[in-house]
Amino acid sequence: MGQAKREIDDRPFAEETFPDVCANCFNDPALASFVKAHASADSCFYCERESDNGEPIAAHLGKVLDLINLGIRTRYNCPEAELSYAGREGGFQGSLHEMRDIIQDWVEVSDNSGDLMEDIIEAFGDDIELARINHGVTGGDILRWSWKEFCNVVKHESRYVFFRDKDRHESSREPDGIPAAQMLDALASIIQRFGLTRKLPTGTTLFRCRFHNEPQLPDDPRELGQLRQPDRAKTSNRMSPAGISMFYAAFDSDTTILETYAPHEHDNRATIGKFQLDEEVTVVDLTALPSIPSIFDLERHDTKDEIEFLCGFRNHITAPVSKDGFEHVEYVPSQIVTEYIRRVGLPNSESIHGIMYSSAKHRGHNAVVLFSTAILSETGKPRSSDDTTSIKFITRSTLSPEEVSARLNSSVPMTRTS
Ligand SMILES: [Zn+2]
Repeated sequence: MGQAKREIDDRPFAEETFPDVCANCFNDPALASFVKAHASADSCFYCERESDNGEPIAAHLGKVLDLINLGIRTRYNCPEAELSYAGREGGFQGSLHEMRDIIQDWVEVSDNSGDLMEDIIEAFGDDIELARINHGVTGGDILRWSWKEFCNVVKHESRYVFFRDKDRHESSREPDGIPAAQMLDALASIIQRFGLTRKLPTGTTLFRCRFHNEPQLPDDPRELGQLRQPDRAKTSNRMSPAGISMFYAAFDSDTTILETYAPHEHDNRATIGKFQLDEEVTVVDLTALPSIPSIFDLERHDTKDEIEFLCGFRNHITAPVSKDGFEHVEYVPSQIVTEYIRRVGLPNSESIHGIMYSSAKHRGHNAVVLFSTAILSETGKPRSSDDTTSIKFITRSTLSPEEVSARLNSSVPMTRTS
């Protein structure tokens, strides 16, 4: 087993002689902000930038190397600690990674000459080899595999009683995976832990659209929405199965048109209703997930795997689904998650009234589904239950097919992903 000349635990780099480097030379945000916080020199050896106001802009590279070392150790360890050793079979039983490759994989520099990267690699020494902690399987991998298995179970194997199914309760097909029966609890805990709820204040304006071929819809706001009308919930939707009606809306009128439009509607008129929340509601907000931290962000690096999983989960349940019949299957996982959030809720949380998500059809714009809504009449409040949101109908307008296509063209719909 080859011994490295410089061990990863040797004396701090900060005590050695290194040039100064500025924040602009790193693309990694954690390394760049570390440099800013520890700047002590007014010029950068690598990009030759100089301070223009006398404030220091560059930090001692040795200090940055110590941080790089700590960051790498959140993912890699000495082979002895991670792998078994069998001399007759050629050494460590598992993959070893050369320090050069590790640094090139994780440290993002913006220095074009390559000098900074070479100095970092040389500082660690080329002959260190490390092993991935836990063979490179992260908590994020386990969550991702477990979610995939959950989707497979509820789409193709057991949809209504999977949570009581012994096989799904005790084990997962994935190593260390979360059994399908426990996946919803795990997901709710993560949503709660990252604080992914927000309040939509009273007065929030919401838009809903309905396509129709008759010149006018009957003069009843309920025609514009599945407002507690289960008999009208004929189709399967992203968050609600056929038979369970929910109120899908957007925060602007173009988004509601794009969200509702389907090619067979191209000759039809669209009526857009404007509503307002008559009370503050709490929704799960999937639109503003925390940013994925770098491994060099020592305060947040241990949230990296879960945030990456949440981003993948959000992308999965909001991805465009083609309405070719298979949507009834593809929507099942998000429908179950929605029902769980509505009926079971998040740990130690008040009741949740809906889910806010990014529109799959209108980039940069958001949509919301409210689990249950009741229109407030002029005579007073509707009878409301805990998860029912009172909304006020404000006004509506009808667009001709030509006006609809002008609106569709001007709002630059997102390209479909396959
Ligand atoms: Zn620089």
